Amino acid sequence: MPKLTINGKTVDAPEGATVLEAARMAEIDIPTLCHHPKLTPFGGCRLCIVEIKGIPRPVTSCTTPVSEGMEVTTSSPQIEDLRKTVLELILSDHPNDCMVCERAGDCTLQEMAYTYGIRENKFAGERRVYEKKDGNPFIERDLEKCIMCGRCVKVCREVQGVEAIDFGYRGFKAKICTAYEKDLNCEFCGQCVSVCPTGALTGKMWSLKGRKKDVREVDTTCAYCGTGCNITLHVKGNEVVRVTSREDTLNEGWLCVKGRFGYKFINSPDRLTKPLIRRDGRFEEVSWEEAFDCIANKLTEIKAAFGADAIGGLSSARCTNEENYAFQKMIRAAVGTNNVDHCARL
Ligand code: SF4
Ligand code: SF4
Ligand code: SF4
Repeated sequence: MPKLTINGKTVDAPEGATVLEAARMAEIDIPTLCHHPKLTPFGGCRLCIVEIKGIPRPVTSCTTPVSEGMEVTTSSPQIEDLRKTVLELILSDHPNDCMVCERAGDCTLQEMAYTYGIRENKFAGERRVYEKKDGNPFIERDLEKCIMCGRCVKVCREVQGVEAIDFGYRGFKAKICTAYEKDLNCEFCGQCVSVCPTGALTGKMWSLKGRKKDVREVDTTCAYCGTGCNITLHVKGNEVVRVTSREDTLNEGWLCVKGRFGYKFINSPDRLTKPLIRRDGRFEEVSWEEAFDCIANKLTEIKAAFGADAIGGLSSARCTNEENYAFQKMIRAAVGTNNVDHCARL
């Protein structure tokens, strides 16, 4: 295990760790934009530069492995000046429309600009202008806000295994695009949206529905399948306006298209909110007590007339483990039959 010093502090880092990882283990902050702990290092944004004794120029800490006896300095007037210049260069080709941006208040670039006090920009010049809108149904791609960090490309390749997007063109014309610049037509998992550090990728459905400060976050479990991914509902008033997922959960922050974008049913006015009983061929709304009494009476009648095995219970893979456990317990223990199954058998 290599022993190094970072800002004079001795750190034991695991073999193969990068200087950035070692610093974060020692709770020493190094700013980054392109780095993501679950993706391979890129070294693209250059914000994580540090000084290492014996190396005549700053190096990117996210791509430099630790070695025995290394002496690292993460912050100095020269390093901070370089970081500020890097940020100014990025922001010189950025719309800076935080007032209406979906990510304002939850944007790493905005946070960095605040930290480094960037107000005036000495690099004002030509800016990229993209008028073409992507017609895909889920993901708003605002390429003018893209800082070319490459996180979206990496997550699509390394986590989702789809490779729907990549770097295209070179220099000032470089951009993240699909093959032949067609509209995005992929799995729409939204992993790229979740790792984007700016407002370049957002959900079309949550446009102008409320930003981070406007919503209440409620952690829950996705009900679409038995995997049980952890999700966070962003609730404004009584409406779910967005779904995200935390990185410290069993699904590590990743979701599928249903979990991330299939939430509109929650607020649909077509949803049943009261039980229905069919009488004379027509459904009538009834209270929960009346519905439960009806179910209990019918089950009791059938059991008395034909035995418990005349009854079967079908549960759902869209329920949680706990709900399915309670259901099979009711069928087995209360009704008295092992006729219990669920819809995933289809
Ligand atoms: S991406 Fe960030 S910095 Fe850019 S406009 Fe949106 S909130 Fe502001
Ligand atoms: S939504 Fe998923 S599949 Fe589509 S580009 Fe983003 S990461 Fe790739
Ligand atoms: S779209 Fe977002 S994640 Fe992708 S390169 Fe641009 S800023 Fe980075």
